[in-house]
Amino acid sequence: MAAIATQLPIRVRLKRMTGLLVGLLLLQALIFYKFRPTEKQRYTRKRDLTLNNTDSRRESEGISFLSFLAQYPVKIISSFYGNSFSVNTSYAYRMSDTPSKVNSSILKIKDSVTRNAEGLNKTCSIQETALARRRMVNLNPPSWRELENKFKDTGLLPGGLWRPKNCNPNVHVAIIIPFRGRDSQLRVFLNNMIPLFQKQNLDYGIFVVDQREGPPFNRAMLMNIGFMESSKLGNYNCFIFHDVDLIAENEFNIYRCAEKPRHMSVLIDKYNYKVLYKDIFGGVTALTREHMQKVNGFSNVYFGWGGEDDDMSKRIRDKNGPGLSSVPGEIGRYKMIKHQHEKSNPINSLRWDLLKSTLNMWKSDGLSSLEGRYSILKLERRPLYTWMYTDVDEKAILWDDAMAKYRKNSWVQYLLTLNHTFITASPSISDGARTIHSIDLFVKSPCIPKCLSFISLCVISICAIILTNL
Ligand code: UDP
Ligand code: MN
Repeated sequence: MAAIATQLPIRVRLKRMTGLLVGLLLLQALIFYKFRPTEKQRYTRKRDLTLNNTDSRRESEGISFLSFLAQYPVKIISSFYGNSFSVNTSYAYRMSDTPSKVNSSILKIKDSVTRNAEGLNKTCSIQETALARRRMVNLNPPSWRELENKFKDTGLLPGGLWRPKNCNPNVHVAIIIPFRGRDSQLRVFLNNMIPLFQKQNLDYGIFVVDQREGPPFNRAMLMNIGFMESSKLGNYNCFIFHDVDLIAENEFNIYRCAEKPRHMSVLIDKYNYKVLYKDIFGGVTALTREHMQKVNGFSNVYFGWGGEDDDMSKRIRDKNGPGLSSVPGEIGRYKMIKHQHEKSNPINSLRWDLLKSTLNMWKSDGLSSLEGRYSILKLERRPLYTWMYTDVDEKAILWDDAMAKYRKNSWVQYLLTLNHTFITASPSISDGARTIHSIDLFVKSPCIPKCLSFISLCVISICAIILTNL
């Protein structure tokens, strides 16, 4: 046969060879397509979870063979090499200067503020005569260096913790700020708000919960994370959830919790100091630990802009909920730092549907479903605040059974197909302190397609060699 084949003209041989190669590739693509894992299986494998996949057929029907064929070469290559990456945290530092890091991995800070003997027996009170009804707000962002210098002699502890010296506070306030890429706003916030917190004699800590790039911003979930993580670091009993771009104008707006969850940012300059709608609960809100536990915290399923604050409003106003209170409008006055709407925080088109089922979902969606669905990639005590750099596992949240009825929705589909690999970091607990771990990862691709594509490439090469010698 070899003898006959050598007599064939080169053009014919080339034609045959190409035909055979294309045939083999198509065959292999077909095998890959038939046995490809569904989105859910792929995700499950990655997370090493055991989810049932009865829906898998239906869920994989979306991809056509032709579009699969287009991705096919990439699939072969990536199945060889896996996806090796290390996390790039530099986006948080797109700025002229950076906040300093207090050189300490021990995050549980002892009560190192010394109080004088009489102070220990005296409960902290606020000196009302020192408070202004209209304070000067400075919307120009100072540099980090300027800020750190400004507050360095005020008795701040690493991580931005502060306590009054001459009294014994019975309220411990955690200020939780959902955050992503708004560095200059954070500087304006700290510049204006630290003096207010100190003037109000608060025992407080500021926690900036920063969401890693990837899925759209999830404000409510970040606030849940801030609640859980700050509770590990101190015995906070009042949590004030605070947009980074809101600056209080009236110093009588006291940063403490009330009997009922309290809405504090009632009138905002951006909305011409008008209440936008009844029962609004966005911007700045104060809830005690008990309030948070009673309503199972915020919802975790609101990715993108809108809805999450109304969801919380519904939770607290439910017949068994703690109820809603607001500070009087004149006191709850704020300026909002001007900003554009981020591309990474698109409007959540599912919010109206989600809001319809708040009262059916709240028990299973919130603090109780947070565990394992986020990770703290870095925890840094910076001079003016504690930085919590977090990753959110949007797929785990959306694969939850409670979300099954929304899975066909285009917004959910979009979120499920995002090319974001969740990073599981496991900070070790030692001596009551959390240490920071390196977050370089190597995500291995599954072995079976790897072996299959390797074998088939070998077969193709051998065939090619034989054919050229025909
Ligand atoms: N936020 C953020 N980065 C974003 C989007 C939102 O830090 O990309 C935080 C920030 O604290 C902000 C809050 O979420 O104040 C609310 O978002 P935004 O200001 O866009 O909403 P608004 O209330 O102005 O409509
Ligand atoms: Mn805003």
